[in-house]
Amino acid sequence: MVRVCVYCGSSPGNRPEYADTTRAFCNVAADRGWDLVYGGGTVGLMGIAADTMLARGRHVIGVIPHSLFDKEVVHRGVSELVEVDSMHERKAAMAHHADAFVALPGGLGTLEEVFEALTWTQLRIHAKPCGLLNASGYYDELLAFLCHTAREGFVNQASLDLVVVEADPERMCDSLEERLRL
Ligand code: AMP
Repeated sequence: MVRVCVYCGSSPGNRPEYADTTRAFCNVAADRGWDLVYGGGTVGLMGIAADTMLARGRHVIGVIPHSLFDKEVVHRGVSELVEVDSMHERKAAMAHHADAFVALPGGLGTLEEVFEALTWTQLRIHAKPCGLLNASGYYDELLAFLCHTAREGFVNQASLDLVVVEADPERMCDSLEERLRL
């Protein structure tokens, strides 16, 4: 059984497709019997991810710092609420509970979280696959920039290959499962 950590926006974004893809990804994950680790809020795509998994009867772990209880409106309906004292503790706890990571569309928080998970994979602090779900081309420019970092000699291709990039939720879950089996 896979526990997937989803990093995603505390906002819903400007296009309904972002919420649609979040629901689609969570439904595919639920179909496979996966459980969810996420940031513990009710707002934005985060809340949609949690509610979709809960509605499918999956186990949902929310990890949230006390300081964000009000801002992100803590989700009292999750299966397990892990309360922490800082953002650093939050990321460590999310990574600890998860087998794999997926970034859905999101803002600075999402980017920071997924890049930390990726650098930990790169440094072999953990061996957990990381994916970018490129819903509606949201990550196109970031992916172009990542190619630039390799061309300019700051990131090697092997590190870039650690990032699982898929636009389709089924294919994302297939690719993560494949890497988890390796
Ligand atoms: P955003 O993508 O900016 O909407 O944020 C998504 C989630 O990341 C929210 O739960 C933010 O509170 C969280 N977040 C933002 N910055 C950090 C950080 N430095 N460490 C951990 N989580 C963060």
